[in-house]
Amino acid sequence: MLAARLTARLEETGGEALVTRPFGWITRRGLVRRPSCSDVRCDDGVRLDTGADCDNCDNVLHSRRAWRVRIAADVNQELPGLETDARYREIEARMRRHAEAADFVARQAEARERAERRAAARAEVEAQAAVERERATAEAAARQAVA
Ligand SMILES: [Zn+2]
Repeated sequence: MLAARLTARLEETGGEALVTRPFGWITRRGLVRRPSCSDVRCDDGVRLDTGADCDNCDNVLHSRRAWRVRIAADVNQELPGLETDARYREIEARMRRHAEAADFVARQAEARERAERRAAARAEVEAQAAVERERATAEAAARQAVA
């Protein structure tokens, strides 16, 4: 995954000959995941595991466009007669707030998922321990019966 990312970033930069300070470039640009997508397998819109376009990004782009249309309509209704610049700034500010809120919801969902996975792993460990306890009890009983 990192090799694919590094290759893509090098192409973006224009080749390794243009990287003057390799360490700085690698640690700040070459290998750093850009947090544009909530899917960890996504790297700049391409899935690193399959090489296909990221569906999540498509969704995000699509919903971003839909949200922009909706927010622009709201701004037109709530603040009619705004100048073009002011209207653009208002729409951008609302888009940012919306993105932050969506980000927060996505992070909460991820945290919930992680907690569920941890709980499932704990339950698995406990079930395994119960099976082993039962086996030990049965073996002890068998030893006693033989004795
Ligand atoms: Zn993506």
